Amino acid sequence: MKTIGLLGGMSWESTLGYYRAINEGIKSSLGGLHSAKIAIYSVDFDPIEKLQHNDDWEGTAKILIEAAINVQSAGADFLLICTNTMHKVAPQIEAAINIPLLHIADATADVLVKQGIKTVGLLGTAFTMEQDFYKGRLSENYGLTVLVPNEADRAIVHNVIYKELCLGKALPASKAEYLRIIESLAKQGAEAVILGCTEIGMLLEQADTKVTLLDTTTIHAQKAVEYAL
Ligand code: GLU
Repeated sequence: MKTIGLLGGMSWESTLGYYRAINEGIKSSLGGLHSAKIAIYSVDFDPIEKLQHNDDWEGTAKILIEAAINVQSAGADFLLICTNTMHKVAPQIEAAINIPLLHIADATADVLVKQGIKTVGLLGTAFTMEQDFYKGRLSENYGLTVLVPNEADRAIVHNVIYKELCLGKALPASKAEYLRIIESLAKQGAEAVILGCTEIGMLLEQADTKVTLLDTTTIHAQKAVEYAL
């Protein structure tokens, strides 16, 4: 079994989900007392969030490159960045390490392609929903049409992530808003909706809606289990 490297803490609430999902995946594949070999570096999210909102992505890259090198030194055979948003600086991180990076958008696109889905909705931070590092990768590399909510709804989705979910709060009113937005993306033609922020799984589950949901935390963790084995 390979050692899985996790760059976590963005937020730590969602890194917990990765840790559980990866260990459960290894347990269900190998049985008995098997568990995952994991090297985690969990960052302090506060300075990173401030740099993001000040548009200082090179500043975030500096912190994450140092963390990724530490994960590599701890014996990781490959790396996962446990957030969709921070894949904005995935190219810089990838260039600074000698181990492979399993990109969260590629893992998600693999599932979409296997399910034959061509038009997909995307929920995440404003950075993920509006910039090209994520949407562009899905459309250019996999031919997917990506729909995002309107401006007002993007602000709701973004604020719930930073002001509630990253602080461990899953509020019923926010869940209702997310479900309304998911339904509206489905009405516009989305065959499925990507939960493209690693905390959204704390708020919603598949049983809450008929629209197919793709939880990027679960998908990324599953990809890590497959790669480790
Ligand atoms: N975990 C979130 C994501 O998947 C947002 C936190 C962050 O900005 O990294 O995008």
